[in-house]
Amino acid sequence: MGKITPQREQYEKGLPPKPSCVELPKTVNILGIKYTIEYCDNPADVDINKREAFWGQIDYWTRTIRIYRKDLAPEDIWQNLFHEIIHGIVAALHLKSLKADDDKNHDELDLLALGLTDVLIRNEWLKT
Ligand SMILES: [Zn+2]
Repeated sequence: MGKITPQREQYEKGLPPKPSCVELPKTVNILGIKYTIEYCDNPADVDINKREAFWGQIDYWTRTIRIYRKDLAPEDIWQNLFHEIIHGIVAALHLKSLKADDDKNHDELDLLALGLTDVLIRNEWLKT
């Protein structure tokens, strides 16, 4: 699950102008496991239990990733998507250091997602 971190806010202040369009994938294969990606306009729909509002959520049982989309810039959607994909990688590879479902891990995972999103933008793979 993804939350906004202070590091991300800090980073966004120095970001170049926002790309305006991007094609969002509907599936992702993570180390041989295929997930369906659903985009939600209501943050409560992101939570499979519909109890909390999330930016994104990966469900290992249904192999679904749900991402909040409404009113978000493409790079934010990509960062949230990468966050959930990294959760999928961590789960598939049993990466113990990032596996715990706590705030510290989610923050670190979010920074990795930020790094990947930054690569997309700086290399202009994500462009207008
Ligand atoms: Zn998370």
